[in-house]
Amino acid sequence: MTADFERLARAERAGTADLVEIFSAIQGEGPRTGERHLFVRFLHCDMKCAYCDTPACHVPLDAWRLEKTPGRRDFERRPNPEPVDALRDIVVGALSGPVRHTAVSFTGGEPLLQPWVIRALAPAVRARGAKVLLETDANLDAAFLSVRDCIDVLSMDWKLASATGEPVREGAHRNILSASRGIEAYVKAVFAGSTADDEILAAARAVAELRPDIPLVLQPATPFAGFRDAPSPDRVLAAQEAAMAVHGDVRAIPQIHRLSGQM
Ligand code: SF4
Repeated sequence: MTADFERLARAERAGTADLVEIFSAIQGEGPRTGERHLFVRFLHCDMKCAYCDTPACHVPLDAWRLEKTPGRRDFERRPNPEPVDALRDIVVGALSGPVRHTAVSFTGGEPLLQPWVIRALAPAVRARGAKVLLETDANLDAAFLSVRDCIDVLSMDWKLASATGEPVREGAHRNILSASRGIEAYVKAVFAGSTADDEILAAARAVAELRPDIPLVLQPATPFAGFRDAPSPDRVLAAQEAAMAVHGDVRAIPQIHRLSGQM
């Protein structure tokens, strides 16, 4: 965990956001892979997964970076925290330009550590015709309920202890999965080479029980920094076969943005 709760409390009182970056890119995970999204990446996380590929979200950044022109990587630095009103203007400006975005992806870090920011930005995102997509580790169920009606697409993790190196918060995962009924959603389970079938089956059974209408995405962990425990091609097939024995819609989707050299 790398969340600074005193700093987060100050940000909420002041109506500000603690950020890492905003940029325009191809969505590289899950069933909406390939769409153009505007990514709002939050600082702070309540986990520290072994495979985490966003180390900046764990650092107490005093500045964040804004892509001035969507897709051009012409970043400028701005001080943290950013006032929410100014952040809304930035997002609206990006959505009003010539590059069309299907969704704004609130990602991190863990966006549900700053739910007031999501609530403040969502109406403006929808008013510009884009969807509000939440990418969450699905551990903060109370915070999810506070933003539920703002979310158009839920990308929720089902964390696997063998891959993250941390305990699974199954109760919170189940609460969020149940509360998501009626929302477009998918569950993403990042799995490692050492992940056993029983962990994957627990995720598949929960999706089959609580949201049988949505896909379970098995995402092979991508090697990053010191993490090397990626599943083999044969293991990906075997994991999908095991999960499909209990849930009908199981998709094995790697991180496409990493394979194609995108951010
Ligand atoms: S939940 Fe996501 S951002 Fe947080 S440590 Fe895990 S992979 Fe990184």
